[in-house]
Amino acid sequence: MSTNRTALVGQSIASMDLKDALMVGVIVYACTIFGIYTAQPDTLSAFWPSNAVLVGLLLRRAHPPTLAHWAAAIIGYVLGDTEMLQSWPKTLMLIWANLMGVSVCYLALSRMSEAHRGLRNASSMVRFVLVVISGAAAAGVAGFFIHPRLYGGTPAHGFAFWFSTELVNYIAMLPVMLTMPTLSRGLARYKRRTDWPSLRAEEIAPLAAFAASLWLGTQLGGPGVIPYPVPAMLWCALTYGRFATACITLFFSMWTLIAISNGTLLIGASFDSQEAVMSLRVGVIFTALAPLTVASVMAARNALLARLMHVASHDSLTHALNRGGFMTGAEAVLATPKVQRQPVAVLMMDIDLFKAVNDNHGHAAGDVVLTSFAGVAQSHLRKGDLLGRLGGEEFAVLLPGCSPDAACAIAQRICDAFAAHPVAVGGDAPLHSTVSIGVACWDKPAIPVEAMLGAADAALYTAKRSGRNRIVRSA
Ligand code: GH3
Ligand code: MG
Ligand code: MG
Repeated sequence: MSTNRTALVGQSIASMDLKDALMVGVIVYACTIFGIYTAQPDTLSAFWPSNAVLVGLLLRRAHPPTLAHWAAAIIGYVLGDTEMLQSWPKTLMLIWANLMGVSVCYLALSRMSEAHRGLRNASSMVRFVLVVISGAAAAGVAGFFIHPRLYGGTPAHGFAFWFSTELVNYIAMLPVMLTMPTLSRGLARYKRRTDWPSLRAEEIAPLAAFAASLWLGTQLGGPGVIPYPVPAMLWCALTYGRFATACITLFFSMWTLIAISNGTLLIGASFDSQEAVMSLRVGVIFTALAPLTVASVMAARNALLARLMHVASHDSLTHALNRGGFMTGAEAVLATPKVQRQPVAVLMMDIDLFKAVNDNHGHAAGDVVLTSFAGVAQSHLRKGDLLGRLGGEEFAVLLPGCSPDAACAIAQRICDAFAAHPVAVGGDAPLHSTVSIGVACWDKPAIPVEAMLGAADAALYTAKRSGRNRIVRSA
């Protein structure tokens, strides 16, 4: 039976891999056709996305690529090249050069940590540049041998041409592939935005400045205009995420090269030799490294800040909010326009005779009771409710948009569930602790959080005096 199941799982993974490989082949084919149409060796807008896209596709998979993926990619290259009526020897030589760079980039990047690969650490861009230089150099070695045969010229020129072309393609495209959010994560972020689609001015300003600096370059001209958009791109990197910055820098590189080649951007230099073209393309792409570096340093900083914020606002024992975190969170929730039009309730909860647990079973057992209670309470709350440990064995809950009846029902469920919840403490028999809860409700949140907690605390005091293990609603 289980052998059958294993065989079925194996079969379904194999069929998924095959579909996935087919998709890789189709994308490589489409990129190859696109690249052949745009990449004339001596024009400024030469762009060959296939290799960087293939590296990105192989790296973004949950599992390492299978032989089928590599075979599909090669078939994609072959079909793309033969479509353009290239001869077989030429096709094979070009594919070899492509795969040299792809395999080096793939092998080096696949050995990096996921954070570095997603350009999320301060030093990620340094590693990334070293990898793409190695990949481009591998393609350069292939160019050393094949370029003289295919296009004439010296082997050294072949190396320089393939090296610079691949360097530009990898630096332009790979960051987009490596930082692209998955569809589900993108949708989740979209849903989380409460102010969507009313974009704020400070969010649009960097992009507007970027567009304005590109336009200014076309108006002023001259050799200095290429880096004009750099300050705006740095602003974009400080404001937007890594993926948006990668897209902006890709646009910058492509636009600059195309605008120079068609005369929209007049920089007053002629690009009649391949050396001049290579120099310009490498210079433009290196300009794009600055905003990408800033974006990845910002990602590292934001992740660190989020971790620090979490530590500063949460209780390390129960993982509920601590007093400061609860107060700040409650004030923020109560300030939202939607919550201000709805009823609100606060629960004050205090574990009964907790001192006796510590005295009879030890402090460690007391800690387990605290953690268990936080777990039980949290499991009865809705998504927007806040649970905080205000101190010792005292917890509070904010229930925004909750009617008095619903608040009492939630409090009663927590009370009953905790009383029925056995807490395993070391070798002793499981403990059964109880909790007393004070409930206070308002039609609308109008008074400060402290006053709401005070009202619930008074009800809690009544619950304690009337025998504990019960809920009391404030009068
Ligand atoms: P009541 O039912 O009236 O609330 O009685 P109680 O024993 O629960 O209340 P009391 O305020 O007398 O005791 C609270 C105890 O909680 C005293 C303190 O040592 C203990 N305590 C506070 N913080 C912690 C903690 O982090 N871990 C443990 N294990 N105990 C703690
Ligand atoms: Mg107590
Ligand atoms: Mg207490």
